[in-house]
Parts: sequence; C-alpha cells; structure tokens
Amino acid sequence: MGGVDRHDQFLASFPLMRKSVKGYKKMFFYMVDIAICNAYVLYFKLPNPTKQSIVNFRLNIAEDMLYNLSLPNYPTRGRPSQNECPTRLQAKHWAHFPEHIPSTEKKKIPTKRCRVCLKHNIRSETTWQCKKCLVALHVPKCFEIFHTIQNY
Ligand SMILES: [Zn+2]
Ligand SMILES: [Zn+2]
Repeated sequence: MGGVDRHDQFLASFPLMRKSVKGYKKMFFYMVDIAICNAYVLYFKLPNPTKQSIVNFRLNIAEDMLYNLSLPNYPTRGRPSQNECPTRLQAKHWAHFPEHIPSTEKKKIPTKRCRVCLKHNIRSETTWQCKKCLVALHVPKCFEIFHTIQNY
C-alpha cells in the first residue's frame, strides 16, 4: 500500500473537520494532518513504540501541547468591579473547579489525603477535590500547585 493511500485513509478519520473549515484554513489543517501522519509513520521506526491508533496519537500530541500552552493574558479595560472581564465565562468549557468530596452513607463529611501533600510525604486530609480530575486537594494552595506545576 502506497503512502498516499495511507494518508487518505488516516485523513478519512476526520471528515467533519474538513467540511467545516474553508479555504486557507482548510489548507492549514490539511498540512497539519499530513505532518501528523508523517510523524505517526516515523514514530513506529523508533526502538520501542507504544501500539496506538492514529486517533490516539493525535490526541496525545494535542494533550502534550496543551500541557505547555499558555493563553495570552487579555487585558481588562476599565474598572473591573463594574465592567466584567470579557473572558469571564470562557473557563466553563475547560477549567478545573474545586468541590467538596461528595458525602456517602458512611461519611457525611468525607475527607481524603491531599495528592500534593501525599507526594511530599505530608499526612494531611482535605474535604475538597477537583471536580474534573477527581483528585483530593487542599484549597487554595495545593489546588493551585497541582494545576500549574508539572512536577508538583
Ligand atoms: Zn495539600
Ligand atoms: Zn483538576
């Protein structure tokens, strides 16, 4: 099977993307697709590649990029107490929020060992967890450390 066939086969996994974007954007995404396909082929030439589909390979690349991505810090105009920040609601799609660890029949106010403290060999429990990660963390300090430092 030739390389071109393979590309088309891989690209067929993302038909929606190619219908929803136009012109130069389409070209840009097409080139990114090809770059990822080439990387995928090269990846299997490495000594011990992990078996994974092209879809997972793409997701891993995206996740890795997100780990290191920093969004621009949009300036807020005027007095922040009166004019709400335009990016105020953006966080709802992706951000991590603290919540109380849900109570069970046995425990009304459950506590768990904080992940950050645990890593530093500190025996300390918390009633808070991250809603998205479902990891127990002290609020606010350990919560911030866990979500901002790679090797916390
Ligand atoms: Zn902690
Ligand atoms: Zn989280």
